[in-house]
Amino acid sequence: MSSVLKETMSAFCLPEDFAHPLLLWYNEKKRDLPWRHTGDPYRIWVSEIMLQQTRVEAVRKYYLRFTEELPEISDLAACPDEKLLKLWEGLGYYSRVKNMKKAAQLSHDGLPKTYDSLRTLPGIGNYTAGAVASIAYGLPEPAVDGNVLRVLTRLTGCREDISKQKTRTDAEDCLRKYLCGHPEAAPGIFNQAMMELGALICLPNTDPLCVSCPVQKFCSALRDGTVSKIPVRAKKSSRRIEERCVLIIRDGNKTAIRKRPNHGLLAGLYEFPNIAGYKDADEAVQITQKMGFTVLRITPLPDTKHIFTHLEWRMRAYLIKTAQTEESLREDIILADAEELQKIYALPSAFDAYKEDVL
Ligand code: SF4
Repeated sequence: MSSVLKETMSAFCLPEDFAHPLLLWYNEKKRDLPWRHTGDPYRIWVSEIMLQQTRVEAVRKYYLRFTEELPEISDLAACPDEKLLKLWEGLGYYSRVKNMKKAAQLSHDGLPKTYDSLRTLPGIGNYTAGAVASIAYGLPEPAVDGNVLRVLTRLTGCREDISKQKTRTDAEDCLRKYLCGHPEAAPGIFNQAMMELGALICLPNTDPLCVSCPVQKFCSALRDGTVSKIPVRAKKSSRRIEERCVLIIRDGNKTAIRKRPNHGLLAGLYEFPNIAGYKDADEAVQITQKMGFTVLRITPLPDTKHIFTHLEWRMRAYLIKTAQTEESLREDIILADAEELQKIYALPSAFDAYKEDVL
């Protein structure tokens, strides 16, 4: 178990008996997901990291492909970076899968078996450590993600700002204490039931389905009429906006791509050539010529945007047909056909809108 339980002035005070109806509901209503059929810590870890990236439904296919290609933690530890990034393509936050590989390389005998030792691995924070420790090892550790925090704040009527680390720590302390005092609650099932309730019933950004909620009779927010006001979240600082011009350069049946630097945003991935700022068609032609291409035709494509955590790319793009000019190409430019783009080179989802022009 993790560090000694602290007696704190917690913002959360959980009703004693709510776990029983919650677990009954989960048993009956839970979604059938591939990672719910395994007790393998490695697979549970993979699914939990993927679930932090995207929607449950989207994770299915990534999870199945990843665990088929890399069935054991030792396969992940030995996986070449290019292949790993390709397996992660479309999930975003590529640093997470790089950290997974580092963690796998440090776990010669499989993943560690305690919360504290899991926490020492690269890329494993409180949530992931709690999820693996409780689901794979049955330890009374909390796994507090956005869904759980929403359920918990509404259930207890907590008005603390959920973007503050202290609120999250209080939530973890409260749940750890609850799990330690209620061994019948089965920590792994309990944590998943809380997440499932947040995903299916206690919904964000819309009215939650309180009439169908198994714990409605314990819910402070429902009783006090404050459901729409909880959870409280301080306004986020706005994202930096960056305008970019993206060049989809087609040379016969091949497309120009280049590798991004090995550090910083989207490190080590491939991209369509792009430059800062919006460019008009004449400027785009000149830039393409400087790469060594002879431009035959240029067509504007629809503008798109992609949102990162603290940054938003607003993209203006051109489809540019060129003549065969391979010998004179700038050396950072790679010409790849559709099969190579699908199987070898990992292109981040920021460029998804333009992939259909080349695949
Ligand atoms: Fe959420 Fe409504 Fe259930 Fe309360 S009663 S936990 S607000 S779904």
